[in-house]
Amino acid sequence: MKFVVGVDDHDSTKAGCTTHFSSILLEKLFLKNCKISELPKLVRLNPNIPWKTRGNASISFIVDCNISLCELEQLVSDTSEKYVKKISMGYNLNRKPGYAILEYDKYNLIKDKLESFYERAVSDVIPLDLAKKFAKNNKILIGGSRGLIGSIAALGFDEDYTFELLTYRKIENWNKDRDVDNKSIMEADSIFFPKVVANYDYFKNKPLILSHGRDPVFYGLRGIDPEILIKEMNIIKAKEELDFFMIFKTNQMTDPHLKYLGTRYYQTTSMKIKINSIRIMKGGHVIIEGGYSEMLVIVYRESRELNSLAKELKRGDLIHVSGAIKPSFNNSKILEAERIEVLYLNDQINEIPLCPICKRRMESVGKDKGYRCKRCKTFANSKTTKSISRNITLGLYQSPLYRHLTKPIYLNLSKPEINEEELINNILSKMIKRQDRYVSTMVSS
Ligand code: ATP
Repeated sequence: MKFVVGVDDHDSTKAGCTTHFSSILLEKLFLKNCKISELPKLVRLNPNIPWKTRGNASISFIVDCNISLCELEQLVSDTSEKYVKKISMGYNLNRKPGYAILEYDKYNLIKDKLESFYERAVSDVIPLDLAKKFAKNNKILIGGSRGLIGSIAALGFDEDYTFELLTYRKIENWNKDRDVDNKSIMEADSIFFPKVVANYDYFKNKPLILSHGRDPVFYGLRGIDPEILIKEMNIIKAKEELDFFMIFKTNQMTDPHLKYLGTRYYQTTSMKIKINSIRIMKGGHVIIEGGYSEMLVIVYRESRELNSLAKELKRGDLIHVSGAIKPSFNNSKILEAERIEVLYLNDQINEIPLCPICKRRMESVGKDKGYRCKRCKTFANSKTTKSISRNITLGLYQSPLYRHLTKPIYLNLSKPEINEEELINNILSKMIKRQDRYVSTMVSS
């Protein structure tokens, strides 16, 4: 019988990761002779959710097993509990793992509803009760806690995609620094870019592929073709023996969060702004105040090119900003800019006139009362308008730094011809042949 399974929240700040857990679960099912004919999906949800650990990832996959729904649920729930207790220690660290399971026939019947749930999970905050009610009404088997929200949402993702290949470390290395040959990353980048992206930060001279912290991921390679990601992996030299790798189909780098916009806290929004003023804060962050909105826009220093652009904007410019709505201390809502399209550049500025006789700057007589030369008393009614040259051009600007869902401006999304069944079966066959399957054994015993 065919099933769709979603899992989420199996990581913690100390150890573990939902993608790692899902790979171990797939391995377990594969060993039980379940048929797996598609790559698992790595589904990023609302990037503005405050209680995410890292990138708000959830996972779903399809399996065809010779077991009942009840037996499958038992297996998923048992593996989940062991992973969280023995590997991620998530229960002690406020993680709330969950899962969702559905028979494939039923899944096809409620696909539209699941897609709407996914859209909402990418763009808004979903209360736990609402997710439970949705599961009950649609006969989705759920278990665990908050993670069931992401698990259900992952079942509904069926849009544009890219791929991510994740490599995982052996458990004895989880606490050690990650060491990789940077030259090998740059070499792979030079061969495969732009079919692979976000590999290396040439500005800071450091890899972008490495995971940080004590999770089991060593590195992640992102791109539009899984075969190329495997070739890239074979070039990159990690300075430790890795445990296994998995390839996921993913909504990363496809801009789904910019498709479903809102106006509430933690939603992504987008708006046109005629600029009133630009303030550069201590530290380099830029605040944009706009004519059509109460909301201040903040362009963080860390957003590099976007921040440099913001510093060059002037009163009268017209921009289209996209970003996350967040609460702020001084202003009720702020918009954290992620992308700015410059639509119009004001190249005229008004300035206090120069005295035509003395060539000195005149002085204001009073509000709306004109300007006068202090020396020869020559009078002018109003400011003069002057054309200025601008250092920026019209067009789209965004931070070069990697944000999971954001599509790099240059990326061409495509759907490569691949045999997913062969690919996932090769990956899982390699996984089960590992000499040391320590974590897999831990969550099975
Ligand atoms: P990892 O990458 O290791 O999985 P993470 O950053 O993805 O970590 P999670 O552990 O998945 O973080 O935590 C996110 C939690 O937020 C999950 O419990 C998930 O169910 C929940 N969640 C995700 N999207 C929403 C949403 N739109 N509304 C409410 N809760 C959500």
